[in-house]
Amino acid sequence: MIPMVDLKSLNARLKPAIDDAMHTVISEASFIKGPSLREFEENLASYLNVKHVIGVANGTDALQIAMMALGLKIGDEVIVPSFTYVATAEVIGLLGLTPVMVDVDINTYNIDVKQVQAAITSNTKAIVPVHLYGQSAPMLEIMELAKKNNLFVVEDNAQAIGGDYTYIDGEQVKTGTIGDIGCTSFFPSKNLGCFGDGGAIFTNNDDLAQKIRMIANHGQPKKYVHTILGVNSRLDTLQAAVLNVKLKHLDDFAERRQAVAHRYNVELDEVDEIVCQKVANYSSHVYHQYTVRITNGKRDDLQAYLKAQGVSSKIYYPTPLYKQEAFKSYHDGRTHKGTEQLCKEVISFPIHTEMTAEVQSYIIKSIKTFFRV
Ligand SMILES: *Cc1c(COP(=O)(O)O)cnc(C)c1O
Repeated sequence: MIPMVDLKSLNARLKPAIDDAMHTVISEASFIKGPSLREFEENLASYLNVKHVIGVANGTDALQIAMMALGLKIGDEVIVPSFTYVATAEVIGLLGLTPVMVDVDINTYNIDVKQVQAAITSNTKAIVPVHLYGQSAPMLEIMELAKKNNLFVVEDNAQAIGGDYTYIDGEQVKTGTIGDIGCTSFFPSKNLGCFGDGGAIFTNNDDLAQKIRMIANHGQPKKYVHTILGVNSRLDTLQAAVLNVKLKHLDDFAERRQAVAHRYNVELDEVDEIVCQKVANYSSHVYHQYTVRITNGKRDDLQAYLKAQGVSSKIYYPTPLYKQEAFKSYHDGRTHKGTEQLCKEVISFPIHTEMTAEVQSYIIKSIKTFFRV
């Protein structure tokens, strides 16, 4: 079976450097808050050109701690896209805040700014744009709306680390560094993945950074002083050591993924029933996923056919968030046309840093054969 990602080959390629980095941590026995963690936080901050990076235990914790740091009250509303991974909205509900789900754009798959604007009420306190599959959400418009309405912006950058947002004047910034806070995940299959769970929070705001560090560490500004309620959420030093090695390759990883995506785009353009994801002019795309729409209603048949041919594919995501049992109570009953259509039409094909031309040819041939192209 051709896998969605090939972490074994990637890890084999980087093994000597990763082994060295891990052995350093083991010989120092510096497993919690060791030197490699501080080093990684500094390296990532400098790569992203952001003032503060705080390592945490996973991407979901990153989002939760970010929300906790904003000092919101029970019932405050936070706007999220209805087409995303559950973690984006889950942490909001868990904190007693109200996730307000809005529709996404059918072409870019990202949050629809008009719908965000329409969802703002006097209780709205924050927006959580998701840079889905590796493409930036429309951040300029979101930041303008946020400024006008005095809202926080927390970017869910779990799928887009290393991506760029380009302003109208050509200035480029890294996704995750535009809003008040950015959150990411180092889950193994993410574009920058570790050997287990990991995550990080980014901010340019000194006060928020201090509060985030405190919350992630039992709300303590110093040992055995607890000024607020916090959690225990740390990025292990061993994971930071792995990430330090991989961070040096992050741009190369993106280029490899982009080359695979480019070839899919060119080849699949010949298939009438496939519509590729639109890449907005303000965004790069780091292709955490390569996802297209199948417009003839045969998406599930294509998936079954590919499976029979030994080709993996995935549906991210099959169900609008508001149709999930856990989120029904937050739903106003309205149907989100974009999200509903995407849930029925999207399919993601294998994409990763180690894809060979031969394997990709086989995948493309299988897809084209299904559509008789
Ligand atoms: C992976 C992911 C998360 C959660 O990250 P974990 O490290 O698995 O907790 C959150 N949001 C999005 C969009 C993700 O893809």
